[in-house]
Amino acid sequence: MAFKRALIFLGPPGAGKGTQAKRVAKQCGIPHLSTGDMFREAVSRGTELGRQVRPIMERGELVPDELVMQMVEERLSWPDCQGGFVFDGFPRTLPQAERLNGSLRARGFGDPKVVDFAVPHEKLMRRLTGRWTCSVGGEIYNIYDAPPKVPGICDRDGGKLVQRADDRPEVVRERLAAYDRQTRPLVDYYRQRGVLGSVDASGGIEEVSRALDRILQCAKGADVRL
Ligand SMILES: [Zn+2]
Repeated sequence: MAFKRALIFLGPPGAGKGTQAKRVAKQCGIPHLSTGDMFREAVSRGTELGRQVRPIMERGELVPDELVMQMVEERLSWPDCQGGFVFDGFPRTLPQAERLNGSLRARGFGDPKVVDFAVPHEKLMRRLTGRWTCSVGGEIYNIYDAPPKVPGICDRDGGKLVQRADDRPEVVRERLAAYDRQTRPLVDYYRQRGVLGSVDASGGIEEVSRALDRILQCAKGADVRL
């Protein structure tokens, strides 16, 4: 196989890693594995796992490592994962990262290539709390960087703009604090293992894409083909 690589995109909410993970997955022909999407799907399909995580997600709590790992292990056993994959939103804790190492070794993968999407907090606050969505057509605005012509009203269809509960300032602050507490230690963990690259993700999508592609092409082993 020409390509066998586990990619991990690390970064706080609002860093744009989901957008990049989708793009890279498509270009490399590997699956994009978002644990958030997997849980939502398990819940909506009403699987055994879905029944277990539903009340946890409804309370807004973190899904326990054991359940996350069960779901990830199951997904990694699908044939489409044999050539590599890109994780988005996982691992989220140190125990998850350690369990993942063992799992990757068992599946014949080398060390993962990890990319840290670095964005200053004030920029993330602006991106997330500035995001308002049209209640009619779903258009997304940013009241700071891409505001509608008339405040609170969609340019295209005149729909009322609403803010997701998740994007309210007090909630965003809590989401960022949770990231710093639980997930940021992984940046040092992977740096010490020599598998971390860092991207300045404070710019626009095009700019971040170019910086990310440079990092992936320079990856040790140079087996990431874009
Ligand atoms: Zn609209």
